[in-house]
This record gives sequence, structure tokens and C-alpha cells, in this order.
Amino acid sequence: MAPSGELFCSECEAETSHRLVARTKLHLGVKRKWRCEDCEHRVVTINNSVPTTTG
Ligand SMILES: [Zn+2]
Repeated sequence: MAPSGELFCSECEAETSHRLVARTKLHLGVKRKWRCEDCEHRVVTINNSVPTTTG
């Protein structure tokens, strides 16, 4: 059973099921890379929160 979670996908514009594809330990916390199961769009979270990006 692969780790998965519900995250907001900007491609689907909805909360969708994401698969965990990578996990990295940083001094800030734990960075996780997820992939949307519907469209393969990648999402990165740090300590379970999605960093806000501008531009
Ligand atoms: Zn998606």
C-alpha cells in the first residue's frame, strides 16, 4: 500500500488523490513530492503544507 493523500491539484482544480513519489528530509522539515492520480501533475509539500508560490 503506497502512501497517498488528498491534495489540491491546480490542473484538476479540485482536491484529488495523490500518490507519494519522493520524500526528502530538510532542515525545514520533511519535503514530499506527490503526483496527482488523475493528471500526473506534481505537487510538493513541506511538513504537509503546500508552499505558496508567486509567478
Ligand atoms: Zn490533477
